[in-house]
Amino acid sequence: MALIVQKYGGTSVANPERIRKVADRVARFHKAGHQIVVVVSAMSGETDKLIKLAKEVQATPDPRELDVVIATGEQVTIGLTAMALMNIGIPAVSYTGLQVRILTDEAHTKARILDIDQHNMRADLDAGKVVVVAGFQGVNAAGHITTLGRGGSDTTGVALAAALSADECQIYTDVDGVYTTDPRVVPEARRLETITFEEMLEMASMGSKVLQIRSVEFAGKYKVKLRVLSSFEDKNDGTLITFEEDRKMEQPIISGIAFNRDEAKLSILGVPDRPGIAYSILGPIGEANIDVDMIIQNTSVDGLTDFSFTVHRNEFDKAMGIANNQIKPAIQARDVHGDNKICKVSLVGVGMRTHAGVASKMFSTLAHENINIQMISTSEIKTSVVIDEKYMELAVRSLHRAFELDGPLAS
Ligand code: ADP
Ligand code: ASP
Ligand code: MG
Repeated sequence: MALIVQKYGGTSVANPERIRKVADRVARFHKAGHQIVVVVSAMSGETDKLIKLAKEVQATPDPRELDVVIATGEQVTIGLTAMALMNIGIPAVSYTGLQVRILTDEAHTKARILDIDQHNMRADLDAGKVVVVAGFQGVNAAGHITTLGRGGSDTTGVALAAALSADECQIYTDVDGVYTTDPRVVPEARRLETITFEEMLEMASMGSKVLQIRSVEFAGKYKVKLRVLSSFEDKNDGTLITFEEDRKMEQPIISGIAFNRDEAKLSILGVPDRPGIAYSILGPIGEANIDVDMIIQNTSVDGLTDFSFTVHRNEFDKAMGIANNQIKPAIQARDVHGDNKICKVSLVGVGMRTHAGVASKMFSTLAHENINIQMISTSEIKTSVVIDEKYMELAVRSLHRAFELDGPLAS
């Protein structure tokens, strides 16, 4: 007998028929003698609808109240999933985040899980019930409902698996695993049977939304056995996230390509090149709680230089306001330029550690397509470039081909 956490995303619970399919799968595992905790997302499109609704009432919704509104999507699907299970004779009980007591910090709309009370879930599992938990939501110490950021049900699933020391956490979605890149953008992308935890972490942080990054962090920290599978078909075992020591085979140089349209670039031009200038620019941005991703500063020949950085696109207007009204006058910069039509494309692979030449092959591939590179950043297992958004698909497709990721399944 195993304890398995199964997380079902929005398309997997999109309507009553899909929910019945989920119940059928859960029932099969339950009948095989396993203890099952099910985590569900809201029906697909529902969270977007709720955010839109909130914005119609208050242009910039109050974060506490926004969480009250957007947490409702998952409350609907837990009840429906429990009912679907009962309908086929499987005892089930649903819990919201507050009812479980998934304790989070105070950060409304992007809260972090601090602790999970196992008491009720354990009692129900021991009584033979399937426990159905709302993804994406928790409660802070003051008792207010919080949410975990978009895609946060993945994190609920993995965090529950860690807390309950589950044997496996299965993330059921609308693709049958993690692919070399988003198969909706590159149809030639192939499914990976395994991907290392480090690679998955980079893929998620560079924009592959198949798993929320915090879920991967949890899996790494607590060594949760994590698998991504299709809820639509049972034809394979999906993709297993492995810890490198488990892997014996030769590593491919590049395992995947991630891309991200969520960024925007700010350039402060004519900046005096002197100690403390980076702090004078990024200090006010940090104080406004805006995360900065890539940073580039040139050296100067005439005492003046340019300084560019990227932020999340949602925070572009706010960052531009700070740059123009605070930073520019304070350091007497010449001008501020903003561009919110950029994207970031990243190659990810642990094989980069032992192989040189990845960056130059990446740059020559992009040059061949006449794509200008605006920014570059690298880490041990990742090379990223910022390019014009309109070339994103072309860049991803040509890199996918150049690094020989097109083609049949790798094993
Ligand atoms: P869910 O609602 O089940 O959480 P998501 O839409 O959040 O599903 O994540 C699944 C989607 O992630 C897929 O439909 C696919 O378009 C996208 N995706 C992006 N990158 C990848 C990748 N490397 N492998 C597989 N899917 C990816
Ligand atoms: N329903 C939430 C969202 O759309 C959480 C999730 O689906 O994981 O972001
Ligand atoms: Mg998701």
